[in-house]
Amino acid sequence: MPLSPPPPQKRLGQNFLIDLNIVRKIVAAAAVEPGESVLEIGPGRGILTRTLCELPNTVTALEVDSHLVGYLKETLNCSNLDLRHADALQFAYDTLPDSTVVVANLPYYISTPLLFKLLGANSHISRMVLMLQAEVAERIVAEPNTDDYGIISILTQYRADAKIAFRVSKNCFRPRPDVDSAVITLRTRPHPAVSRSTEVVFVKVVRAAFAHRRKTLINSLRDEGFFSTQLTDALTTTGIDPSRRAETLSIDEFAAIANALASISS
Ligand code: SAM
Repeated sequence: MPLSPPPPQKRLGQNFLIDLNIVRKIVAAAAVEPGESVLEIGPGRGILTRTLCELPNTVTALEVDSHLVGYLKETLNCSNLDLRHADALQFAYDTLPDSTVVVANLPYYISTPLLFKLLGANSHISRMVLMLQAEVAERIVAEPNTDDYGIISILTQYRADAKIAFRVSKNCFRPRPDVDSAVITLRTRPHPAVSRSTEVVFVKVVRAAFAHRRKTLINSLRDEGFFSTQLTDALTTTGIDPSRRAETLSIDEFAAIANALASISS
């Protein structure tokens, strides 16, 4: 008798793909090359894992649900699969081989913290193909001067070149989710616009600038605890008008402000 899969657990974001055409499109978008390794987060019932394991590459898969890990061990017979019972938020991504490609239909309830963890491992991860909530995908790829442009756009795009590959209907999943989905591709930048040492200031500036979207840049940053004199000096040095609003600034402009503030305070 074939083993029946464990029932889906909503709290773990278990909306399983049921459309093999979407699976093929995801694997094609990943374009995994010989010598690269694949990391899948949340293999679930294994629909994507099975197709990934047809590649001649090593596939590591992290699944937090022990029932699914047991089910996958019984039902998948892949010699190139390293299946781990692990929480993807706690995983040490710096243990991955250098050219790792992440391919995943992410659990949406933790997609943003997971995305930032993966972007932080850019020396090991060269590309990612991720299924996300469509609304989050739109915000990730958004350009300045649009409503969707904000913290997640900037903190992703300074680390990676981000594009929407295709959209996916709710009908391609069981149970059917409440939201539409989209697959994005991220090509990580080996040399981000901000150095590791200035990164903390950069993230603070971006978060503070968008904390009050309607206010001018200088007022928003001041309200979030930056010193007026240092801010005025940094904006003068970079030639950025203090009366602009956060959503009009490019990533390079945010990077310039962070670099100027870091050199003023050191
Ligand atoms: N890849 C499968 C598919 O496409 O049908 C399942 C995708 S489902 C949207 C997300 C998967 O992530 C589930 O299997 C869930 O158990 C798993 N998951 C949830 N939280 C996790 C975590 N913290 N670490 C690893 N896996 C997790």
